[in-house]
Amino acid sequence: MKTDPANLMTLLELQSLDTALDQVKHKAKSLPVHGVIADLMRRHGSVKDDLVAAQTERSDAAAAARRAEADVVPVRERLTRNQARVDSGEMTAKALSSAIDEIEHLKQRVSDLEDAQLEAMEALDLATAHVGQMSEQVEEIEQEVREQLASRDAAVAELSAKANDLSSARTAKASQVPQPLLALYDKIRARNNGVAVAKFDGRRCQGCGLEATVADINRYLSAPSDEVIRCAECDRILVR
Ligand SMILES: [Zn+2]
Repeated sequence: MKTDPANLMTLLELQSLDTALDQVKHKAKSLPVHGVIADLMRRHGSVKDDLVAAQTERSDAAAAARRAEADVVPVRERLTRNQARVDSGEMTAKALSSAIDEIEHLKQRVSDLEDAQLEAMEALDLATAHVGQMSEQVEEIEQEVREQLASRDAAVAELSAKANDLSSARTAKASQVPQPLLALYDKIRARNNGVAVAKFDGRRCQGCGLEATVADINRYLSAPSDEVIRCAECDRILVR
């Protein structure tokens, strides 16, 4: 292919715009904040699971406390009834003795059930406190997620604005390159990590960095100035 050497200078300028554009896009994708957000979301999922488990534990504890309360009520009522009968003084000696025995038994029973009720209420308090802690943790992580999302959006918006500017400049620059040369450039760029054109400094191609053989150097330098030459190693367009 032949082209005005000035077109190759334009192509180098196009290359530097494309490289800058690629770097901005890469930077937007590899912002550290993406990893921070992903970590936070994982932690959020795990703490949310812990919260659900704590809530289940609390409702179990609440049910146990209600049962303990319900257990003690009828025994206490029976104790009150028995005590009233004894206090009435209308019982036979034998019935009185048996009622007093039962009252002793019921008092012990009430005391045991009250202990159990107290334990159940303490367990409920603990479970409620645990739910509170887990809710706080979930809220803290959610707040941090909101902050990180805002910071990510700001960084991405800034890079997008840069990319838009570079993209406009790229379009304008590309329009100055003859179509066949631009097509060749695009084709080489696609298969060479985004770099299609490089300077030849007299010894090595700055695209691949490899030193050319003496034969290749002679071939590059002796070619007519309007000849488009390509690196023998990496196939990129060389600008002498
Ligand atoms: Zn090369």
